[in-house]
Amino acid sequence: MVNSQIKARGITDESVLDAMRKVPRHLFVPKSRISEAYYDGPLPIGYGQTISQPYIVAYMTEVINPKKCRKVLEIGTGSGYHAAVLAEIVDSVYSIEIITELYKEAKERLEKLGYKNIKLKNGDGYYGWKEHAPFDAIVVTAAAEFVPPPLIEQLKEGGKIVIPIGSPFFTQTLVLVEKREEKIYSKNLMPVRFVPFVRGK
Ligand code: SAH
Repeated sequence: MVNSQIKARGITDESVLDAMRKVPRHLFVPKSRISEAYYDGPLPIGYGQTISQPYIVAYMTEVINPKKCRKVLEIGTGSGYHAAVLAEIVDSVYSIEIITELYKEAKERLEKLGYKNIKLKNGDGYYGWKEHAPFDAIVVTAAAEFVPPPLIEQLKEGGKIVIPIGSPFFTQTLVLVEKREEKIYSKNLMPVRFVPFVRGK
């Protein structure tokens, strides 16, 4: 998976490649999908959600420059796979999932695998996680119409947000947002397809 899907497409950060080699992706997919775990695409994980394509996980991780990050916030825990990849590189990962069942499954899975530097929360990630802010980077794994303002507020000076922006029914754009001297800069990275960012009640 790492050589043919990730290195071959230009990912060079060794910390990312090592993390992708280390995290057992087959333990993050439903039992019925184990044979497809290392396939080059997203897979369903139930409740209408997906575990992202391995290359996209690697790309979104590389683009935040993880070696320089201590604290990362992820919105959209899903299976917990991307959180585990981040946790192999950074000091602590905070991840929020809106679907209670997925939150519970990911919590059990990550505890079983022994990840002590991941904290999970069940709720609407739109508001970020104020108690643990500011974050060096924020990774959003569901497509939003715009960058939630609380996430920009909770980003450290010099920090980065990577987020798919666009309508759920069309191709979206992966966007990199940077905060420098209180100003926000954004850059379009590539077309992507993510499940929608939904709002809590
Ligand atoms: N990072 C995940 C990918 C999960 S797909 C993985 O590695 O498996 C995106 C996830 O975002 C879904 O589980 C969905 O329920 C969740 N999500 C959507 N809107 C959200 C919101 N407002 N707050 C938190 N999670 C959200």
